[in-house]
Amino acid sequence: MKNKDFNINRVIRPNIAKLKAYSSARDEFEEATADMVFLDANENPFQNGVNRYPDPKQQNVKELLSALKGIPTEQILLGNGSDEVLDLIFRAFCEPKEDNVIFLPPTYGMYGVLAGLNNIDTKEVLLSETFDLKVKETLGAVDKHSKIIFLCSPNNPSGNAFSAKSIQRIVEDFKGLVVIDEAYIDFSSQASWLVQLDKYPNLIITQTLSKAFGMAGIRLGICYGSKEIIEILNRIKPPYNVNELTQQRAKERLLKMDEVSQEIENILSERSKLEKKLEAISYVAKIYPSDANFILVKVDDANKRYDQLIEKKIVIRNRTAQALCENTLRLTVGTKEENEKLLKALNEIE
Ligand SMILES: *Cc1c(COP(=O)(O)O)cnc(C)c1O
Repeated sequence: MKNKDFNINRVIRPNIAKLKAYSSARDEFEEATADMVFLDANENPFQNGVNRYPDPKQQNVKELLSALKGIPTEQILLGNGSDEVLDLIFRAFCEPKEDNVIFLPPTYGMYGVLAGLNNIDTKEVLLSETFDLKVKETLGAVDKHSKIIFLCSPNNPSGNAFSAKSIQRIVEDFKGLVVIDEAYIDFSSQASWLVQLDKYPNLIITQTLSKAFGMAGIRLGICYGSKEIIEILNRIKPPYNVNELTQQRAKERLLKMDEVSQEIENILSERSKLEKKLEAISYVAKIYPSDANFILVKVDDANKRYDQLIEKKIVIRNRTAQALCENTLRLTVGTKEENEKLLKALNEIE
């Protein structure tokens, strides 16, 4: 096992180490069978599909994910989107006004928001000009209060995945937790770090049904980690954090993986078409390589181009204010028809 110096008892907050999970009615009685009479949770007894509390452990969804990803259900935690999962990680491991976390701009804004919300100091280490992970600088920012390093790979908004070698050095050398946010992994040519999970006791991987799985509306975030880490997060999560409708829809979708795969393939082929056509546009200065379902492009004047597209009823993301992203726009890959409309508009404006 790598990173032998890692000790979960040294990274957990003392109050969380002492905490006992709230035990809900459904937690206390697990051996439910269909013919039982449930008078334990003060629910309305008249059936309408959602009158009962949802499974607090989301066992069926986890079993499907487990089969799909090859990770045991005890190493999976589900949340109300990745945002809840990430918040739980902050709350379990970072002591307010004492600990700090490290992240690598330009990246996903939620790490900073959640750090602020939880009163946790942040250290920001910029990516390189080509948006690569700077290993030495990142490890150099670590001090004795550094609890978590967040690596977003493929990274939002740059679109690239970090090299496995760079990530490995961070995971092996850092004595705290490394969270790899793999929200876009299904669009990537790089392999997921999930296969390495058992090798690294300090590794946490987050994924989501919001992007490749096409279910941003149901809010289902996924966290994979060691049994110890997942047990801690389970202890502090709100008991019914994933609602019944979400669990039902997630199950349906996870049983239709052929559809999901087809959509991913379609998006990837649309992405390469879009990349080629963007090259021909005179004011596009640079197209950054993408391992995700969006493309970051540098243009002559991002604010101007953004406004022009809005006038043509096309909404993209202006990233010009982000570190290293001056005059960049982030374009989500849409359907063939949507991408054609985008290209038509881009070619019309001058
Ligand atoms: C979209 C996105 C997520 C997904 O968040 P959800 O709360 O699961 O919808 C997570 N991380 C990154 C980097 C993202 O861009």
